[in-house]
Amino acid sequence: MNSPRRKELLLHPNGEHEHAFAPIAPPQPQAFMVENVPSQEYPDEEKTGLTAYQDARELVRLVQCPQCSRPYSAPVTLPCGHTVCRGCLPPPTTRANISYPNTPDRLLGISCPLSSCRAEHAAAECSIDVTLSKLMELIEIEVAKHIQLIQDAPMLLEEILQWDDSLPMQEQEKVDMKGASKVLYGGRLASTYTMASMGDLRRGSEVAYKALAGAVDIYQDLDNALLERLRDVAQKELDCLVCYNMMLDPTTTSCGHTFCRRCLVRVMDHSSICPMCRKGLHTPASLQNKPGNAILNALLDGLCPDLVAARQRAVDAEEQGGDDELDTPLFVCTLSLPTMPTFLHVFEPRYRLMMRRCVEGNRQFGMVMYNRTSTPQGDMGSTQFLEYGTLLEIVNLELLRDGRSFVETRGIGRFKIRAHGMLDGYHVGRVERVEDVSLAEEGALEQSETSMAKEFAERYQQDNPDLPLPIDAAINQLSTQELLDNCMTFVRSMRDASAPWLSARIVSVYGEPPADPAVFPYWFASVVPIAEEEKYALLKTTRVRERLKIVYSWIRRIRGQRCANILQMTLGNALFNMALAVRR
Ligand SMILES: [Zn+2]
Ligand SMILES: [Zn+2]
Ligand SMILES: [Zn+2]
Ligand SMILES: [Zn+2]
Repeated sequence: MNSPRRKELLLHPNGEHEHAFAPIAPPQPQAFMVENVPSQEYPDEEKTGLTAYQDARELVRLVQCPQCSRPYSAPVTLPCGHTVCRGCLPPPTTRANISYPNTPDRLLGISCPLSSCRAEHAAAECSIDVTLSKLMELIEIEVAKHIQLIQDAPMLLEEILQWDDSLPMQEQEKVDMKGASKVLYGGRLASTYTMASMGDLRRGSEVAYKALAGAVDIYQDLDNALLERLRDVAQKELDCLVCYNMMLDPTTTSCGHTFCRRCLVRVMDHSSICPMCRKGLHTPASLQNKPGNAILNALLDGLCPDLVAARQRAVDAEEQGGDDELDTPLFVCTLSLPTMPTFLHVFEPRYRLMMRRCVEGNRQFGMVMYNRTSTPQGDMGSTQFLEYGTLLEIVNLELLRDGRSFVETRGIGRFKIRAHGMLDGYHVGRVERVEDVSLAEEGALEQSETSMAKEFAERYQQDNPDLPLPIDAAINQLSTQELLDNCMTFVRSMRDASAPWLSARIVSVYGEPPADPAVFPYWFASVVPIAEEEKYALLKTTRVRERLKIVYSWIRRIRGQRCANILQMTLGNALFNMALAVRR
């Protein structure tokens, strides 16, 4: 009990008294102190974060589950960025009309209990939030220690239920009812937390506090001391394990691990496994569109906004430095595709120089196609090259004696050029990554597109029983997996027919067709003999379905041409036979 911490805890800021050893005055009748005005009325306080005494209610609300109102227990951060206890999630149900990614753990869905979301999340993406779980454990320990230390400082807490327009009428009537009231110890912060733990404080409610003993500053000191401890704990736990800095815009993976958004983006750039647990994360993990972890963000903003702001400034400065830089060398030559190899014979002196610099640097450069028709390229106007390209990594470089080289590369991602210039004769650019939408959005698209197409097809066939279904509706009815299956069937039939573009040699270069619908279109485009300008469309897509549908349209055309060819041949033969007959 006589730990130095306790003295420090209870020392008055100006060091005049040590309240711990002063007799506690008998309870005084006091006016109700309803001082916890919502923090937005103190705009200048936002910079310094929430204060322990004034914002005790707000602070506790940060860790109250929106479902059960208790402090989070086994918290799960959902793909929408919101968090609920695992026990507060409804049981999973089978998801309809979802086929990508086609893994068993994504076939179950959990309908989001939050009224602001209500989406159906893949069960595979609803794991325990490891960081928040640990943090909740530590918060609980700190609060327990604090209360154990301070058995005095009694306080009456009265729950004030709030009017909530979003609730139905019957629910709102309850608001007139009196909330819970409790006498608890340890200051506002600790007692509010305790009240929430007991299940007697709804997340939306406010609290009226009445100190039952001693002066206000005793309570304030208690709150400040506890908040100080909680800040320490949070700062330690909210360090990113990629950059070892405080997390900036914490973003949680489907395995429940959290990193700065930009750290996760950087890691996912060249890997598809979680840097913590090495679990495979479905790629391409689009992160621009993934909601951040709302609770961890709110905790950081509430507890240490000064540190958040400093970190943001540092990152902005770092990115600003690189922002104006045209730091991606551009090779204007051919169409390259993500995950696929590109082989180059480099003989022009400017590109020899570029290759040498790349090999000495990060081994990466951008591949872009010639703008043969001088079509304007967005804000850049009519450039020599097209604005979308593929970032390539040098896998192997064979330097010949005369300075030429053979370079083997692999596509690692797509980009759009934002600005460009020249460096020693070759083009350089500032590029922005092109990424797919989040899996959640992809799933929602598949669901809505297929179900709408099915409804349309039913109505159409009722009204026009003799007509075939319009082709777009027929395609939209197909699940993402069915689209892929159809493409695969076509590939098999072409191989069986010994199509020269699927020769053993080609397959040895590009590999067998990938079973991942996100990647398959790149493979197909690498082998199929159609114009590069058409394949270029794939670089702009941000949805897996969209890419597959482009490939599907090529396949339909090839099939159509083959039919036409066969028809022409048959017709030709018939005419020839007729001609022969006539001559006889
Ligand atoms: Zn949700
Ligand atoms: Zn809960
Ligand atoms: Zn980080
Ligand atoms: Zn992980």
